[in-house]
Amino acid sequence: MRVYLDNNATTKVDPLVTVKMQPFFEELYGNPNSLHKYGMEVRPHLNQAMGEMYDALNVPDQDDILITSCATESNNAVLKGIYFKYIAKDPDKNHIVATSVEHPAVLDTLHFLSEYGVDVTLVDVDENGGISAEAIKNAVTDKTILISMMWANNETGMIFPVEEVAAFAKEKEILFHTDAVQAIGKVHVDLSKVNVDYLTFSAHKFHGPKGIGGLYVKKGKELPNLLHGGEQMGGKRAGTLNVAYIVGMGLALRQAAGHVEKMNSYVRDLRDKLEDALSSIADTIVVGPREQRTPNTILISLRGIEGESMLWDLNRAGIAASTGSACASESLEANPVMSAIGEDPELAHTAMRLSLSRFTTEAEIDRTIEVFTKAAERLRSISSTYAYTNEVG
Ligand code: PLP
Repeated sequence: MRVYLDNNATTKVDPLVTVKMQPFFEELYGNPNSLHKYGMEVRPHLNQAMGEMYDALNVPDQDDILITSCATESNNAVLKGIYFKYIAKDPDKNHIVATSVEHPAVLDTLHFLSEYGVDVTLVDVDENGGISAEAIKNAVTDKTILISMMWANNETGMIFPVEEVAAFAKEKEILFHTDAVQAIGKVHVDLSKVNVDYLTFSAHKFHGPKGIGGLYVKKGKELPNLLHGGEQMGGKRAGTLNVAYIVGMGLALRQAAGHVEKMNSYVRDLRDKLEDALSSIADTIVVGPREQRTPNTILISLRGIEGESMLWDLNRAGIAASTGSACASESLEANPVMSAIGEDPELAHTAMRLSLSRFTTEAEIDRTIEVFTKAAERLRSISSTYAYTNEVG
């Protein structure tokens, strides 16, 4: 049996989405910007897909959804767009507040912008991996132009106080962006209730195809175009539209919004079963209270066991998990979120992330519990550090 528990890295495409996309690789391959029949016949499908996205986020279509190639592009577009539109013109408004545990698509972009005079404040997480709205509010100055705070963290699943921070930003006339990549389909992302100016999402995190994402932009908060060379997307991002993937993303987003209840019942129950079993292993830490996390995520540390070693044992048994963000996994670094939480340095190297989806089955969870428990015993029996700390402490 193969078990996939790395759904925060990417998800399998929903079979309904695959079926929906298929005609756009075959008979419906026209360019939607062409004036002939081939072009015209795909346009209604494109409009329908866009309509599904507006509905799923519960926003009016006077707002805008910019189609991008991925969440990384959406995050770059909003941060660099704000730089060009506001900061480059008014250096007195050059301050951006973000959290220290944003995805590298935000952190690295902010680092890049800091070389052009942008002043960045990164607010640290608390011992649970959470962010307090108060800490964000305290970081704001009269030079702050933007607050960028993810809706849910990719490593821990901790849900951040987006509603409160968005309301505060509006009151202070500060722009607010949220990277909602890990929230979509797991919590209700209803923008009629939460006042965001910009929101990032990515289809492959909610059972859509890879290589397509979106940036929601509120009416009146338009950003400059960063990709010049055509009139696509109303001139806001040039490049021939990837109709098949846009259609796939539309359906996937609709499905994800419709499955929030299932994620918070069926998937949450499976996650809790797995978490109860794994945290009954001695010397184990799970980060963040489970009711404050997305229903599919566990970040767990077993003292004395390197995350990488456990992953190899799981991998040999056909179980896929991760030590953290896939974007950082080519380096064997300590888990960045564990480091930010300030757990002891050993724990930062022992963190493992298990993330479920609505396609995960109970049999897969049972198998994972069995393999994980045996692997923990085996690895601890050969871990000299664990034996030593146990003897002294
Ligand atoms: N933001 C968050 C919170 C993520 O978890 C990820 C992917 O792990 C990204 C952004 C980047 O997504 P994409 O692969 O679509 O660029």
